[in-house]
Amino acid sequence: MKQLFINIKELIQVREKPVEKLSGKEMKELPGIKNAWLLVKDHKIADYGEMNALSEIDADKTIDATGKIILPSWCDSHTHIVYAGNREQEFADRINGLSYEEIANRGGGILNSAKTLAETSEEDIYQQSAKRLEEVIKLGTGAVEIKSGYGLTEEGELKMLRVIKKLQKNYELPIKATFLGAHAIPKEYKKDPDAYMKLVIEEILPKVAEQNLAEYIDIFCEKGYFSVDDTHKLLSAAKKYGLKPKIHVNQFNAIGGIKAGIEHNALSVDHLEVMTQEDIETLKGTSTMPVALPSCSLFLSIPYSPAREMLNAGLPLALATDFNPGSTPSGNMNLVVSLACIKMKMTPEEAINAATINGAYAMELSETHGSITKGKNANFILTKEIPSYTFLPYAFGTNSIEAVYINGKLVE
Ligand SMILES: [Zn+2]
Repeated sequence: MKQLFINIKELIQVREKPVEKLSGKEMKELPGIKNAWLLVKDHKIADYGEMNALSEIDADKTIDATGKIILPSWCDSHTHIVYAGNREQEFADRINGLSYEEIANRGGGILNSAKTLAETSEEDIYQQSAKRLEEVIKLGTGAVEIKSGYGLTEEGELKMLRVIKKLQKNYELPIKATFLGAHAIPKEYKKDPDAYMKLVIEEILPKVAEQNLAEYIDIFCEKGYFSVDDTHKLLSAAKKYGLKPKIHVNQFNAIGGIKAGIEHNALSVDHLEVMTQEDIETLKGTSTMPVALPSCSLFLSIPYSPAREMLNAGLPLALATDFNPGSTPSGNMNLVVSLACIKMKMTPEEAINAATINGAYAMELSETHGSITKGKNANFILTKEIPSYTFLPYAFGTNSIEAVYINGKLVE
């Protein structure tokens, strides 16, 4: 099956020579071809070029993209899409004056989601999560990572990871699974958090590995959650099972989580709302991708990651949604790209690079996703008629997407 897209106003994020990730100044460049064509053969990007150099191609289907832009799908490297129920009551509580931490201390927050998850059947969780996944695919997400972390018991964590596995089986886009048993300390372990770490490391982790339910390991390294010491223990244990770290650090406090992540060769360190100069220095020259989650900052009214400082220091940066029921009930990558421009002062080029190729890197998908490159999977967005790609983050409440393709197939 050959599909030919012609008269594309602009084909963007075209990388003739594949790149793994982009850092610092490199992120300012977003290569593209104006008045372009794109050939999709089966589920791969086969070829592309300028319209005036298009030779006769015998295609099964030709799509006229006059006035429209094609760009690679968003790569959302940090989500908690699998969960049960919602927490809109806490949303109202926060409006009425309670802080995220106060709500957590009252048994709300992550523990509230854990309670609901325990009471919901695996099939029901799957149905709720599949609906959310379909919603984000329609919003242009073509690769996604999903974490456990609302089980907080052996049964609950394995249940969540099995739901992720089922999503992997039933949907075309790549889905990466992360074990986040160390997301919060369950109420019954409040007086003895070490016993909970022991349960995660000695009981749950071996089963996750044995049943091949996750590729990555995560921990919420934060005051009131898990310490740097816990982080070292968990990441060392996970390494034996081949699980690479992608960890929650520096959301409210800088306690040394970044340094710990780097010592364990973390694929990514995520959140980074609070960054010290030392954290930035520590990240330099490493293979760890910093990941910012601006829609979480928006929802919680907390600081945004200091993107400019990181980029000016030459670091790479990826953008993701953090889609979850407590702090970011939205999986809209278009909004994330807008917020990165509006609130983090990233240029549209930097934000699009961060949400595509660097997001792919943070899921080890750079070879197959994140750019328009021959041989890569044909996961891309066809926009409506828009004046330029800068219009995407600029018109922040508008859905500029006309169609989404995953592996060359139009998402209906
Ligand atoms: Zn998160």
